[in-house]
Amino acid sequence: MTELLRPAGLAEALELVGDGGLPLAGGTAISTLLNLRLLEVDRLVSLAALEELQGIEDGPDGMRIGASTTLAGLAGSELARRRLPHVALAAGCVGNPRVRSQARLGGALAHADPRQDLPPALMVSRAVVVCRSRSGERTLPIADLFRGHLETALADDELVTEVRLPPADSEPGRRSASGYLRFAPGSASDFPTVSVAASTVVDEAGSVVELALALGSVGPVPLAIETGGLLGARADAALVEAVVGLVRSTVTPSDDRLGSAEYKRHVAGVIAGRLLGEVLGVPAAPLGDGRR
Ligand SMILES: Cc1cc2nc3c(=O)[nH]c(=O)nc-3n(C[C@H](O)[C@H](O)[C@H](O)COP(=O)(O)OP(=O)(O)OC[C@H]3O[C@@H](n4cnc5c(N)ncnc54)[C@H](O)[C@@H]3O)c2cc1C
Repeated sequence: MTELLRPAGLAEALELVGDGGLPLAGGTAISTLLNLRLLEVDRLVSLAALEELQGIEDGPDGMRIGASTTLAGLAGSELARRRLPHVALAAGCVGNPRVRSQARLGGALAHADPRQDLPPALMVSRAVVVCRSRSGERTLPIADLFRGHLETALADDELVTEVRLPPADSEPGRRSASGYLRFAPGSASDFPTVSVAASTVVDEAGSVVELALALGSVGPVPLAIETGGLLGARADAALVEAVVGLVRSTVTPSDDRLGSAEYKRHVAGVIAGRLLGEVLGVPAAPLGDGRR
């Protein structure tokens, strides 16, 4: 029989998790694992109502999103839609309205399924994950959180408490843009076959000064593409083509029921090219609402 514990505050939650309780956020992944008897647990520690883990705020030092923010709350937040439109879009693509109303940011990160929508979107925004245990706090660049399929760098007694994002680029004359695109040909509520997030900054002369690209469902962890060699290039169709080639030569998808590795490598190039074309304003095929 599993006991459900409802701590009154973060300090109590950290004690209970430190004593072997399993963190419970929205329960959408845990309930599936319990139902399939893939998980056995004595004590669940509910985090959903903890005051310290709520809220989305922006300030001169950057943005903070509390770990117990629901994905529906993130998708619908005015602030997130303005500051991080690709993150809000990715949150709004997860599963279905029931899942999004229950699942929390902390659970969406700690679950670490490489097909998940949010990690690539947060990666291109240089998100940092704040982790707490009863012995202290540490921060991890989000890419370092993921170690493998359903595996993270979190210790058993650690909680994700919030995600921090750097301040928006405010240098005059520069244009920042971002986007998220997923390919889910069966149904919009499926996990994506491949997904891609992009964030760019272009200077007054039309050269790319920042280019971040990350993909989901193309390996055991969400994958950031090393784009340093392309900085300084003009934001044009040749750059988009170069990125398509770079993506195809970098991703390492596996064969599964959604398609062969070769097929997914091809799709990864197609959607990365479409998304980057849209984000840079380079003429390309129409993108729809991010769900294809
Ligand atoms: C029907 C269905 C469809 C789905 N479709 C998609 C999809 O299209 N795209 C997608 O991205 N995802 C999809 N998902 C997965 C979904 O994203 C995850 O189930 C969800 O994000 C997990 O969040 P949760 O708050 O429910 O976590 P929980 O189930 O509560 O927890 C998940 C894991 O995280 C740990 N955990 C939770 N919070 C913390 C914390 N603060 N600190 C440390 N550890 C923590 C838990 O101990 C557990 O190991 C789908 C899930 C379902 C059930």
